Amino acid sequence: MIREKKVIAAEREYEAVKEKDIPISHYFGEDTFNSRVQQMKLPQSMYKRLQAIINEGSQLDIETANAVAHAMKEWAIEKGATHYSHWFQPMTGATAEKHDSFIEMVSADEVIEKFSGKQLVQGEPDASSFPSGGLRTTFEARGYTAWDISSPAFILRSGIGTTLCIPTVFISYSGEALDKKTPLMRSNRAVNESALRLMKLLGDTGAKRVFSTLGPEQEYFLIDKDYYFKRQDLVLANRVLTGAAPPKGQQLEDQYFGSVKERILSFMHDVEEELYKLGIPAKTRHNEVAPSQFEIAPIFEEANLAADHNQLVMEMLRKVAKKHNLAALLHEKPFAGINGSGKHLNWSLSDDRGNNLLNPGKNPHENLQFLVILVATIRAVYLHADILRASVASSGNDHRLGANEAPPAIISVFLGEQLTKILEDIEKGAAAKATDEAIIDLGISSLPAVSKDNTDRNRTSPFAFTGNKFEFRAVGSSQSISFPATVLNTIVAESLDCVADAIAAKGGSPAQAAMDVIREELTKIKSVLFMGDNYTKEWEVEAGKRGLPNLKTTPEALSGMTTDKARGLFKKYRVLSEVELMSRYHIRVERYVKELDIEAMTLANMVSSQIIPAAIGYQGVLAASVTGAAGVLGKDADLAPQKELLKEVATLIGRMQSGVRDLVAKREKAHSFEDEHKKAEFFCSEVKAVMMSLREDVDAIEPIIDDARWPIPKLWEMLFIG
Ligand code: ADP
Ligand code: MG
Repeated sequence: MIREKKVIAAEREYEAVKEKDIPISHYFGEDTFNSRVQQMKLPQSMYKRLQAIINEGSQLDIETANAVAHAMKEWAIEKGATHYSHWFQPMTGATAEKHDSFIEMVSADEVIEKFSGKQLVQGEPDASSFPSGGLRTTFEARGYTAWDISSPAFILRSGIGTTLCIPTVFISYSGEALDKKTPLMRSNRAVNESALRLMKLLGDTGAKRVFSTLGPEQEYFLIDKDYYFKRQDLVLANRVLTGAAPPKGQQLEDQYFGSVKERILSFMHDVEEELYKLGIPAKTRHNEVAPSQFEIAPIFEEANLAADHNQLVMEMLRKVAKKHNLAALLHEKPFAGINGSGKHLNWSLSDDRGNNLLNPGKNPHENLQFLVILVATIRAVYLHADILRASVASSGNDHRLGANEAPPAIISVFLGEQLTKILEDIEKGAAAKATDEAIIDLGISSLPAVSKDNTDRNRTSPFAFTGNKFEFRAVGSSQSISFPATVLNTIVAESLDCVADAIAAKGGSPAQAAMDVIREELTKIKSVLFMGDNYTKEWEVEAGKRGLPNLKTTPEALSGMTTDKARGLFKKYRVLSEVELMSRYHIRVERYVKELDIEAMTLANMVSSQIIPAAIGYQGVLAASVTGAAGVLGKDADLAPQKELLKEVATLIGRMQSGVRDLVAKREKAHSFEDEHKKAEFFCSEVKAVMMSLREDVDAIEPIIDDARWPIPKLWEMLFIG
């Protein structure tokens, strides 16, 4: 039995091999074609040209592309690469690679390694099987990849294969975005334009570029690989669909920030080595709240890079886990009854001079700008809470949001005591008073003082201001951060514009106008502010009164992407055309249906082919025992309790059998809906309900059946042994 084997494995000191025995700084980024390598490998003039193109975001000419491709190839071959791949992020949420070797025939029996500028800049994977949500029909399946020069190429190793990966966008023949990177880049452009305009209006003409920064804190579970492969549900649906709650879960609170087990720390170290080689600044690692749950957080980076890097982090977690005989579970709720996993997406805006625009400033001027941008962000969340909610909707996240462990489905904003007070005072028309020495006096009588507020750490808020950035906490652990970030950037761009328009319309002193606009906006949007405990029932009621949307399930939430408001917004900022937006909506609905379909069928299979046979086996033993005992002991035997147990087992077997029948029937019914949204709703309300009641029966029989007969690993062993 695996359990015995695992006890031995867990007790044995885990032997991990350290690949690097040098400081991180000595090898950080060694597998990326970063500016240091570019400088080394390119002629000086070419290097300068490339840097200028990267920094200004201008068009790459073919001459530079050829020079860069050549240098990149030489470098990659030195690193052992035989192939190159345009690396992109299709709408599956994963990453995609199609490898081509560097070889080119020079004669009938001779090849050389070659890589041209054209091959670097543009690829044409026959990618007809990626979801396009109706953007392409298969007969015109051509998709193009185009190099994103703002994200450095890198080396990916797998087994003995080594590949040069070139981050690319993925677009259709007619230029529609088929991926997650393109809209994110467009949203960065939008927020850049709007922020610069506002800053200029407020008198800051020094900034050349504004971009969003992201720091995603990634949660995950680790379990022993042997357990993983014994469970069809984990392999196929990434979460357990049955399993009685163990007597011990997280109630002792002895896991959070506890000392990291040797085997796990070796794993973390190994992951980090891989990330450092790729230039990914992994910074924090710790045990999370649930048993066998952990977190890794990087130092924040520019949005586009951070999104690429988070994809690689997820990939490395999965890949390195295998090497350590572990399985990394990124699902939002792999185990019922204990906390699920999310991804706190830290978001801010920065300018090219390195100023964080959500950092309360050092002088009056910066503070005014800070307040305006802060209020614009709150306005954005107030107006577009439904789109933000949609951006994190998934079948996995439905189990987590609002489950008293993660933010609710209601999107509100937390600001902390001090900022709340300042905004309240502004709204009332009074300047706030300084409350501690750290506060910088703004010098303008009508402006309040602001300082970094670290006093409160409200962990229940879905969108919390944490001193110098917002933390969007409703993002799912397995999802790509690109779309939530795209939405944030776009809605904030719109609000920055709206605020700028209002300030410009007022005329007069920009500072005074800005304060007036802040005041006016606040009265309209303050219902989105909430400082209390988001997990309570009272808040749900209160939020209802305030008219804040509370969209609990994915089908409901996804409708936020199809409103006229959403279409207008994304179109206006040229982030997603209506067709592109709708394609994303369709893909997400379809994905929801497919995921629930897989879960339903997996559960049905497990129960019929594993659980029921085990239960019938035990039922036979009980029946034989009752007859046997009656034969030996005769009338004297008190067999009522045993018969009771037999009856209980038999009843549960019967219920499980009819549960499976119900489930199969409901699933079939679901597929009879032509309309994908109706299908999703049916899965959500009907199919899920049958799954849950079937699970209850399985979980009820698990503790009363002979442990040796139970065919799949139990929750307690997966979470606590290994
Ligand atoms: P916390 O108190 O929430 O743990 P940290 O300072 O440790 O805050 O940061 C958490 C995450 O937020 C890290 O990934 C960090 O890089 C990121 N972060 C910090 N500042 C910013 C910023 N300006 N923009 C985006 N992310 C940021
Ligand atoms: Mg954190």
